[in-house]
Amino acid sequence: MTVTTLSLTDEKNPWVAAEIRFDRAADKLKLDEGIRKVLKAPAREITVNIPVEMDDGRVEVFTGYRVQHSIARGPGKGGIRYAPDVSLDEVRALASWMTWKCAVVNIPFGGAKGGVICNPLLLSNRELERLTRRYTAGIIEMIGPERDVPAPDMNTNEQVMAWIMDTYAMHVGHATTAVVTGKPMELGGSRGRREATGRGCMIVTLEALKKFGMKAEETRVVIQGFGNVGGMAARLMAARGFKIIAIVEYYGAVYNGQGLDIEALMRHRTETGRISKFDGGEDIDKGEAMLLKCDVLVPAATENVITSENAGRLKCRILCEGANGPTTAIADETLANKGIFVIPDILANAGGVTVSYFEWVQDRQGFFWNEDLVNTRLQEIMVGSFESVTGYGEKHQVDNRTAAYMLALDRVGSAMRLRGLYA
Ligand code: NAD
Repeated sequence: MTVTTLSLTDEKNPWVAAEIRFDRAADKLKLDEGIRKVLKAPAREITVNIPVEMDDGRVEVFTGYRVQHSIARGPGKGGIRYAPDVSLDEVRALASWMTWKCAVVNIPFGGAKGGVICNPLLLSNRELERLTRRYTAGIIEMIGPERDVPAPDMNTNEQVMAWIMDTYAMHVGHATTAVVTGKPMELGGSRGRREATGRGCMIVTLEALKKFGMKAEETRVVIQGFGNVGGMAARLMAARGFKIIAIVEYYGAVYNGQGLDIEALMRHRTETGRISKFDGGEDIDKGEAMLLKCDVLVPAATENVITSENAGRLKCRILCEGANGPTTAIADETLANKGIFVIPDILANAGGVTVSYFEWVQDRQGFFWNEDLVNTRLQEIMVGSFESVTGYGEKHQVDNRTAAYMLALDRVGSAMRLRGLYA
C-alpha cells in the first residue's frame, strides 16, 4: 500500500493533507489493507462543463464537480461551494472529510462534496440561478434523498438550495424536499440549521473549557471568518458570555481587548459592507490578529490558514476548527509540540451536518420539530461526540485529530466489512 508523504510544496494541497491524516489513523488502527485501498480512492467523481447564458447574451462555460467519497454508511452528504479556486483535489478532500465527519457524529450518511469554479461576486442573481440549475441537471443522476444530499457551503445559501431542489423536483416530477438540506423554512428547511455549525463550535468549546477548569466569561476568543460559521459562532459565543476580542476577515481584522459588541459589528457590516472602521474596535493587520494571545482561536473561513509558517507563533490554548481543513498536516506537529488543544474540524464543525441530518429526517417524516428540540438533540450529539473523541484519544494515547480519524475509520470500516464486497 502506498503511504502518502508530505513535502512543503504539497503542504497546501488538501487532498494530500486528507491522505496523510488517513494514513496516520489507519496505521494506528492497523486497518486492513483492502479497506484502506477502497477508502483511499473516492467511490465516484463527476466533472461537468456547464454552459450558461449570461445576461448580455454571451455563453460562458463553467466547470463543476461532485465527488462521493464513500456511501458505505448511507447516502452521500456534503455541501456545494462556488469559488474561483475550487479544484478537484479540494472537492475530493472535502468529500472524504464529510465521510469521517458523519462517522464521528454517528449519523447515517457517507461523504460527498461539490463545487463550481466561478466567482459569484461577478454573477448576477439570474446568472447564478441558471448556473445552479444547469449544474444540478449535470449531476442529477448522482443526487437524491437516498443517494446523495447536497447542502450549502462557501458562497452558496438557502436560495441556491431552493433552486437545486426545484430543478430536481422538475426532473422527477414531484416536490422532493429531502434532496438538499440548508433550505429555506418554507421548503422544508429545519429550524436551527442556519446557526447549527456555529452552535456546534460553541458546544465543543464549552466542553473543552471544562477540561481546563475555565469559564466562558473569562475566555478570550479570536474568530477568523464572519460568514455563516464564524458569524454565528461569534454571535452565540458573545451571547453566552465569551469575550470575542478579534474578528478576522479577508481584507483586515477588528480588535477590542475588552470584547467586541458582535451585534453592533454585524449591523456595521450590513450598513457598510465591511467590518473595518468600526467604532467599537480598532483595525489591525489580519495576519497579526491570528497571532493574538487568546484562549480560543476559531478559524472559520477557509483551508490552509494555519501552516508551517504561522503555527509556531500561535498563542491560543484551544484551537476550534470551524472551517474545513484550516490546519495543514505539517502544522499538526507544531501544534502538538506547543500543547495546543485542537478540536479537529471533523468534530468541531459537525453541528451543521448534524442539523442537516435532522432536516432530512423531518422532510422524510413530513413532521417538523421546534427549535428547542433541534438544539437539545444537537447538544446531545456534539457533547457525546466530543467525549467519544477525547476519550478515544486518551485511551489510545493519540491527539484529538488522530483519535477522531481513528474513531471514524473504525466505524466506516465496520460498515464495509459487514456489507462485504459486491462482485
Ligand atoms: P461563508 O461564505 O458564509 O463565510 C466565509 C467567511 O470567511 C466570509 O466572511 C469570508 O469573507 C471569510 N474569508 C474567506 N477567506 C478568508 C481568508 N482567507 N481570511 C479571512 N477571512 C476569509 O462560508 P461558511 O459557510 O461560513 O464556511 C466557512 C468554512 O466552514 C468553510 O471551510 C466551510 O467548508 C466550513 N463549514 C461550513 C459549514 C456550514 O454549515 N456553512 C459547515 C461545516 C463546515
